[in-house]
Amino acid sequence: SSGQTEKKYVLAIDQGTTSTRAVVFDHAGKIVASGQREHQQIFPQAGWVEHDPLEILRNTREVIGLALADADVNRHSLAAVGITNQRETTVVWDRHTGKPVHRAIVWQDTRTQDICNSLAAEGGMQRYLRRTGLPLATYFAGPKIRWILDNVDGARERAEAGDLLFGTTDSWLIWNLTDGVHVTDVTNASRTLLMDIETLQWDQEIVEEMGVPASMLPEIRSSSEVYGKGRSDSLLIDTPITGILGDQQAATFGQACFAPGQGKNTYGTGNFMLMNTGEDILFSDNGLLTTVAYQLGEQKPAYALEGSIAVTGSLVQWLRDSLQVISSAPEVETKAKRVPDNGGVYIVPAFSGLFAPHWRPDARGVIAGLTRFADQNHICRAALESVAYQSAEVVEAMNTDSATELTELKVDGGMVVNETLMQFQADILGVDVVRPSVTETTALGAAYAAGLAVGFWSSMEELTANWIEESRWSPQLDQDERDRRMRRWKKAVSCTFDWLD
Ligand code: ADP
Repeated sequence: SSGQTEKKYVLAIDQGTTSTRAVVFDHAGKIVASGQREHQQIFPQAGWVEHDPLEILRNTREVIGLALADADVNRHSLAAVGITNQRETTVVWDRHTGKPVHRAIVWQDTRTQDICNSLAAEGGMQRYLRRTGLPLATYFAGPKIRWILDNVDGARERAEAGDLLFGTTDSWLIWNLTDGVHVTDVTNASRTLLMDIETLQWDQEIVEEMGVPASMLPEIRSSSEVYGKGRSDSLLIDTPITGILGDQQAATFGQACFAPGQGKNTYGTGNFMLMNTGEDILFSDNGLLTTVAYQLGEQKPAYALEGSIAVTGSLVQWLRDSLQVISSAPEVETKAKRVPDNGGVYIVPAFSGLFAPHWRPDARGVIAGLTRFADQNHICRAALESVAYQSAEVVEAMNTDSATELTELKVDGGMVVNETLMQFQADILGVDVVRPSVTETTALGAAYAAGLAVGFWSSMEELTANWIEESRWSPQLDQDERDRRMRRWKKAVSCTFDWLD
């Protein structure tokens, strides 16, 4: 063969909560090819959510194949590979056989409440907040590792003997796609409750208190550097893997939120709003998390405030799969549009307690304000509105903590095709909602991190220039009406508290 194929593209692997995608981007940040596979959601009992790590790995291999099937794309045309992933979801596997010792425990899973409570007995739920940026909560990975070691036969002994490895799905995939490189990045590590948010190293004291042998933990690396190369027996043979970002940080990066004060809201299974706070580590007084936004190679890290909402898109799935009032996700909009308003109905989907800004593990969902007038169209409308109300509460917290007022909201994620939701979000926030032309910002962010490491992109300015506005929604509701509805919403929220006794 003559000469080298031009490195025209970057591949992003987006290992999400409901599916795994492989997306090939060109230099302009445009999608050239992609593949996607859903994986099974396993609910062994109320409050538990699991994934099969081997299914996720098979799907990853498959979607890489699908993306590379495009005529113009092959591994020779790839400059680099970036990985982004559902955060906190915990895999523990045997370093000799590669076999997981348990299914992955997913971020929404609440089985670790007792572990959190017993750790909180000394110092309360905020005991690690200043060191890790996080309250003690079932959401994070550390207690999930502890649960596996406590509940899988022989796991603790094997872990102490150095035979078991822990990773979020970024680590799990990289370990498998390379020849056993065991790493994670600062953004994923910042969601374990085990990393010191200032030093960006494992906090030995917390690791010990959590009961996790340090030998299980991956090496913490920056979000943009060479971690390894695709294994010789894989489709990505010799291709450098050079980017890792947790999915929400990746979306923030893909939205080009590089300056302090810039932020985005992602509407997926749950909603996640992140605001870049630059080099400052801000601690929230209003239920937001402090997290690492990204770290590029040797540079100083950028931090973020985050408002995490557990249930938004998954409420639409629940309407479809459990209540069966719709047969597809888009139908929620068709039905919501048949009524002018919610008819007084409010749904607070506290299926796994409430995350930001409330952090109430004791909360359970309610449908409030029912009258004989209410029908399934109102339920659909109330479901969409709940996504906007929950986001509005997070914006309130952001405004207070950062002492600045949000002026417009950049959005992305699977739900932002829903224009009724986008309009209502603008109405209830009183600021414009803006959608970029590429809404696959999660995959794009991972591609950016990977591409920067190998010089495929040379500057943040170049990435910012790729960000193009596609749609904008402006508020149409007057302030009084907005306030009145928000008051109702907060009443409905207060009905969810103290449900467990
Ligand atoms: P994730 O990355 O968390 O897996 P996505 O960003 O792919 O999620 O978004 C998928 C979510 O969006 C699903 O929960 C689905 O119910 C919801 N969704 C998809 N299309 C629509 C729509 N037209 N209206 C409302 N919700 C939608």
